[in-house]
Amino acid sequence: MKKTVLFLGVFLFLTQCKVNQFTGKKTLQIYGNKTVLPQAFKAYDDFITTNKVIRNTTASDQIQHVGKKITRAAEAYFEYKQNLSYLDDYAWEYNLVEDKAINAWCMPGGKIVFYTGIMDIAKSEAGIAAIMGHEVAHALANHGAQRMSAGTIQQGLGILGAKLLENEPEKKRDLFLKAYGIGSNVAGILPFSRGHENEADIIGMQLMAIAGYDPAEAASLWERMQAQSPNSKTPQILSTHPSHQTRISNLRKNAPQALAQAQQIKDSLNQ
Ligand SMILES: [Zn+2]
Repeated sequence: MKKTVLFLGVFLFLTQCKVNQFTGKKTLQIYGNKTVLPQAFKAYDDFITTNKVIRNTTASDQIQHVGKKITRAAEAYFEYKQNLSYLDDYAWEYNLVEDKAINAWCMPGGKIVFYTGIMDIAKSEAGIAAIMGHEVAHALANHGAQRMSAGTIQQGLGILGAKLLENEPEKKRDLFLKAYGIGSNVAGILPFSRGHENEADIIGMQLMAIAGYDPAEAASLWERMQAQSPNSKTPQILSTHPSHQTRISNLRKNAPQALAQAQQIKDSLNQ
């Protein structure tokens, strides 16, 4: 069985890998947008209708405002790369949801949720932009779809499983929710890898810089996260994330480069 899974893994890697638009790295993805996005949009709508969405407050307006600025930055980035059609399948949405959890997430296709619990730590518009940039980056780099793919192989389903799931929408939905860790007590959540986290941090800073925010604010945000979380209780958003110190120093180190790249992109587009 193990051999088969390994074989399927290699086979899928050769046939289904996509090139990450930001890093140029090849990545594994069994499920294409056609499979993933309808699931994501459905799961998001379910979530939004069964949770308390905050509307028409200063905070919720801020989420909308920053969300639009960050996605416009993504558009500028892909325009610069002469690959604007990359964003065709995305349908951006930003909602603030009443929940004490210190968390925010983005489903494939650009469906974003901020919990009210994270707003005190976000503190400012730039802080929101740092979180928004990070979450949008996960979506742009297709980390969720890759995580679903990795999960499928882990479970030994391989191609057979993918075919099987097409006929079993409920199982597919479970896999989907599991990949996103939506719902607090989902067993066997597949965390984003450290590599994905770093990637989302770097891309996120680029996006916030293009949007006109100071990318150095990302490190400050994570310092506030660190100060907030006593050892006993790690905020949900951090539970699978790299250690605070590593992350903060990486963010600090990469902020100047994010600024320089943003400037280059803006200059090039203004020519
Ligand atoms: Zn993340």
